[in-house]
Amino acid sequence: MQPYIRIEKRNNMEKQYRQETKCIQSGWTPKNGEPRIMPIIQSTTFKYESTEEMGRLFDLEEDGYFYSRVQNPTSDMVAAKIADLEGGVAAVLTSSGQAANFYAVLNICEAGDHIVSAASIYGGTYNLFGVTLKKLGIECTFVDADADEETIAAAFRPNTKVMFAETIANPALVVLDIEKFARIAHAHQVPLIVDNTFATPINCRPFEWGADIVVHSTTKYMDGHAMQIGGAIVDSGNFDWDACGSKFHGLTEPDESYHGIVYTKKFGKAAYITKATVQLMRDLGAVPSPMNCFLLNVGLETLALRMERHCYNAGRIAEYLNSHEKVSHVNYAGLPTDKYYALAQKYMPKGTCGVISFELTGGREAAVRFMDSLKLAAIVTHVADARTGVLHPASHTHRQMNDQQLKEAGVSPGLIRLSVGIENVDDLLEDLAQALEQA
Ligand SMILES: *Cc1c(COP(=O)(O)O)cnc(C)c1O
Repeated sequence: MQPYIRIEKRNNMEKQYRQETKCIQSGWTPKNGEPRIMPIIQSTTFKYESTEEMGRLFDLEEDGYFYSRVQNPTSDMVAAKIADLEGGVAAVLTSSGQAANFYAVLNICEAGDHIVSAASIYGGTYNLFGVTLKKLGIECTFVDADADEETIAAAFRPNTKVMFAETIANPALVVLDIEKFARIAHAHQVPLIVDNTFATPINCRPFEWGADIVVHSTTKYMDGHAMQIGGAIVDSGNFDWDACGSKFHGLTEPDESYHGIVYTKKFGKAAYITKATVQLMRDLGAVPSPMNCFLLNVGLETLALRMERHCYNAGRIAEYLNSHEKVSHVNYAGLPTDKYYALAQKYMPKGTCGVISFELTGGREAAVRFMDSLKLAAIVTHVADARTGVLHPASHTHRQMNDQQLKEAGVSPGLIRLSVGIENVDDLLEDLAQALEQA
């Protein structure tokens, strides 16, 4: 029997199915007599009959598996599904969303380089770019994503290699004008990397608007059950690295660690993902376990269904909060009164996500009383779970800041972040109503 492990991380579905079908069917197409369910290949290593055969794998002369730090079939099957959902050519899975962001940048940046990022991004990524990358010699300029094109373009330097933003920023819920960012990036011969964690490819496909690379924390909606920490990098295959002279020399010039192969020459549209896999994974090794990849796939199977319900529930709850006398302000791009409603209608007409933030008129004390009175919604640092969760940034993620510092960070003492789950919305509304009474 031909081993069923000769899988590529490339999106190799023959027919273009709709998103709901891809969630179920992409990535693993069993042949006669093979398991119906995507198998977990819980093996570090793969056996060969001849020294010569395995040697060719090490030289990247042939496709195949030899060690799971570099490639594992279960991981690759799930990567292929995510690549298909995003409409990319290939993807690679990482052990966390943070690792995905780190590798996505490090794959084309080195000491002496510079990146431009939207300022309203996930706190972990903000630290990664502002503090840790700086220690490695890569500088980041943060820009206001809502600023006009000239203002943002002024942040670019001759050594800028990457532009970065989130489709829906966590936790600020800023919706990105993807076309604007892509225009600015491409005018400077730089790829646009978009973190599509909150919108998911069900609600937004950044490649269709000009993004070149998409990253995910698969920990969130893709998993959806708070079971595993994981990440993904997806390549559109559209960025022309060779057209930029020696700017992306890691991709367009010989790699000494592989006898001088040139990624763009040998792997074409899959050059970027191949380099991330055979160089960064080989050397840094933030691989997900096959078991976690399997769990992620179970989550992906229902992603389309769940996103629909997350958005429906969040929309109903945002409307309710918006009209409540104890709530002074609601941030949710699905609300027609929201600052980002028009952008959300353009880029994600089916819905945005299940995360809402809102402000209580009673400030910090009211927020604490409200949170402690909730019965269904649990206090957790997680978001994008099937279960409703709630967090009070002033008491949790931003606890070290005083009220003045909170104001500067755009987090007011009464702000609450609510990640709406897929329970029956009436039960959630009743829970919120009784907790608001206590606030
Ligand atoms: C959670 C999150 C991350 C980090 O992902 P981990 O899987 O927790 O490492 C990065 N970006 C966004 C937008 C996130 O929500």
